[in-house]
Amino acid sequence: MCHIKKNIQQVREEIDHATHKCGRLDHSVQLLAVSKTKPIEAIADAVAAGQTAFGENYVQEGVEKADYFAKHHPEVPIEWHFIGPIQSNKTRLIASHFDWVHSVDRIKIAKRLSEQRPAYLPPLNVLVQVNTSGEASKSGITLDEALALIEEIQALPNITVRGLMSIPQPETDYQHQCAAFAPLAKAFDSLKASIETIDTLSMGMSGDMTAAIACGSTMVRIGTAIFGARDYR
Ligand SMILES: *Cc1c(COP(=O)(O)O)cnc(C)c1O
Repeated sequence: MCHIKKNIQQVREEIDHATHKCGRLDHSVQLLAVSKTKPIEAIADAVAAGQTAFGENYVQEGVEKADYFAKHHPEVPIEWHFIGPIQSNKTRLIASHFDWVHSVDRIKIAKRLSEQRPAYLPPLNVLVQVNTSGEASKSGITLDEALALIEEIQALPNITVRGLMSIPQPETDYQHQCAAFAPLAKAFDSLKASIETIDTLSMGMSGDMTAAIACGSTMVRIGTAIFGARDYR
């Protein structure tokens, strides 16, 4: 069996196991396969294993991959998620090629994404990126800022605000991982209770997905455990 297929099955088993262990419902955690730096063939292998949601960090690379699959495999319903830092001169490409954006952290970007979302596409699904690790992480805003930003984004016509995303500082200790996820989960629960479209908490990567699921993640973003280590040379 191809190693990507085997890895995906293993990651799905780990997700199911973690989900059951903390008493959460089956299928309450979605798997986003993070394919940044990986070739089209690797994505095709993952698609063959039943994976349909992919995360990309670099606009040009993600656009090329999305275009490739739209052209050569229009029958496969792939969902493309943009999860990297956003420069304002790239919002048009993001708005026209992606289904989700996880990394919105200022109103200027949200407004551009809404204005530039093509009319033939459904509203863009947006998560607000929160930084719970203080100065150690450069992207994301505080939880208070995120709540205010969500209020503003709700008024934009071509965006559906779906929830929160976070990339905590890497920690190997389970308790430390939970300490970073817990405040986010608490804020997510209260947002979900007050805003109808909020249903997604994007947290957990290859090294901390078990803790993220125990803390209430609804979407884990997994790269290395599926595609292997990345080569940035
Ligand atoms: C690269 C990346 C991931 C995947 O990380 P792994 O540790 O390889 O699973 C998840 N989320 C974001 C935002 C990333 O940039």
